Amino acid sequence: MFTKIFCCSLMMAFILLSGCQPPPSGEAAGMRYPILYMQLQKMDLPAQLAMPVENIKPRQINDTWGAARSEGRQHEGIDIFAKRGTPVLSATQGIVSRVGTNNLGGKVVWVTGPNLSRHYYAHLDDYADQIQEGDWVEVDEVIGYVGNTGNAKNTPPHLHYGIYLNGQGAIDPYPYLVSSS
Ligand SMILES: [Zn+2]
Repeated sequence: MFTKIFCCSLMMAFILLSGCQPPPSGEAAGMRYPILYMQLQKMDLPAQLAMPVENIKPRQINDTWGAARSEGRQHEGIDIFAKRGTPVLSATQGIVSRVGTNNLGGKVVWVTGPNLSRHYYAHLDDYADQIQEGDWVEVDEVIGYVGNTGNAKNTPPHLHYGIYLNGQGAIDPYPYLVSSS
């Protein structure tokens, strides 16, 4: 009984909302959240992603994936060095799933993108003013600014960018940012 009502209301929501376009980049997904989430689930992660730091060229970044880190950890991402305050741009379309802090990452933003890949932007100096959890973002939306918060406090400002595939964990973002051609 409950399942039936649940399915019916989901179906109604789908019919009501399926004609809707995503909201403008940086605005709340709101009622459209379940539909946008389903759309993301069906998308493939593109082989080429947008550079997540403004005005950085592929040749300016190094593949630091897997490098040794303190306490036996390995580097689960790449570091993109830039001046403090340089805009950090979303590498994908998606839904902002977290805006917050943690010990290692400092100020961080998580975006859930195509195929429910999760994109981690860390050591931010600050978040973009308008960015909140639940927002829809397009490629190149400003989500924050390069800094050295968290365990990067003795390191020059950089973005730590990580990609976590749904059900697979961390993968090397480098090939996605540097064209193989
Ligand atoms: Zn890093």
